[in-house]
Amino acid sequence: MSDAGKLRIIIVDDDASVGKTLLGILKKAGYDVEWAPNGKEALEKLKSGGDILLVDVRLPDMNGLDILREGHKINADLGAIVMTGYSDTETAVRALNAGAFAYVQKPYNIDEVKASLARLAERQNLLRQNRELVRQLQDSNAVLERKVAERTKSLQTANLDLANTIERLKEADAAKSAFVSMVSHELRTPLTVIEGFTETLIDKLESLKKEEIVQYLEIIHTDTLRLTRLIQNILDLSQMQAKGIAINPAPVRLKALSESVVRGLEVLNTGMKFEIVFDQGEVEIFSDKDCVEQVLVNLLSNAVKYSPKNSAIRIEGVSRDGIAQLSVIDQGPGIPEPERERIFQAFYRCPDVVNSKTPGTGLGLTITRAIVEALEGRIKVESGPEGKGSSFQVTLPRRIEGEKSNGSNDIPVAKG
Ligand code: ADP
Repeated sequence: MSDAGKLRIIIVDDDASVGKTLLGILKKAGYDVEWAPNGKEALEKLKSGGDILLVDVRLPDMNGLDILREGHKINADLGAIVMTGYSDTETAVRALNAGAFAYVQKPYNIDEVKASLARLAERQNLLRQNRELVRQLQDSNAVLERKVAERTKSLQTANLDLANTIERLKEADAAKSAFVSMVSHELRTPLTVIEGFTETLIDKLESLKKEEIVQYLEIIHTDTLRLTRLIQNILDLSQMQAKGIAINPAPVRLKALSESVVRGLEVLNTGMKFEIVFDQGEVEIFSDKDCVEQVLVNLLSNAVKYSPKNSAIRIEGVSRDGIAQLSVIDQGPGIPEPERERIFQAFYRCPDVVNSKTPGTGLGLTITRAIVEALEGRIKVESGPEGKGSSFQVTLPRRIEGEKSNGSNDIPVAKG
């Protein structure tokens, strides 16, 4: 089909005088017309655009009806008026069968040709509009399909996110139940001891020796302290979970902070030799001072608690590649490889520690890790070559932006 606007008509007649006369008349009537003296030229012209053929049946190289059939291969919407010298209906029927719109008999009456042409032009214009509508429809259909595909994809992603959230919620719920049952169990143990020894004291106070009474009271005292620690730790942890950890970023000088924490511990006469080593000098980060201090206090308290008296505890600080690393290194029993991840789970305590009756709740490192993660950092532990000594390494970003870490539902609880 030729470009939008005028329809292009090709007259095919080997009689130049007929062809050219018709050409002149139709041009005058406002049509875009061309003339071809034979089938071959007509088809060539059609290839560069043509909507209507005005074709003679008898031509030197091809039959007019064959031109029409070939023409339809070039333009399926091609309209044609066949001009025939035969006056038989058979030719007329063959012309219509070959896809002609009408036929006129030669010698033609120009008004008849113009009338047929006008009707055909109207049909061709309708066909054009139709094609255009179909194209627009296909375009909008493609747009619609693309939109549906996009929506389907985002729905699938949303579904996947939802499934993940449900999975996480289920895990958090299971962790919470495990935490609650652990808490009840941990609270019940010292309470049972306190209850038992108090009852003995009440029932048998008269018959007990003074040393026995002192011994029982000491046990009650120890377990009361244990309970207090436990409750404090549980409260800290659930507060972190419910409200998140408030983070107020400000400049923190890690060396100065380590010195201040160590001074606080030295007052307690722990008998340990503290060493602070910052090879590159002071390391300043933009983080939350109280949180970093809490991490240091927890790690140093553990180092003091689990290491032999008078041994050395070292704090190392370095800064590299946009991070700061603080290590707390002791000369205690170390942590066997299989326990190194578990000690960060709530209530987990290494079996040796449990046997030696060193006081503790198994919650300190859980809290410590939650704080480190709120500071967008990481914590891990290593032990010396023979498993001796622990080195807790805390990696912190040089700069954090956060105001408050989200409350996490997820408390890793030690299993078994
Ligand atoms: P707690 O000290 O109250 O038991 P934590 O969560 O702080 O609880 O520590 C969990 C366990 O990790 C401890 O019970 C202990 O077995 C082990 N642990 C922690 N710090 C050290 C350390 N510096 N040396 C050896 N063992 C440690």
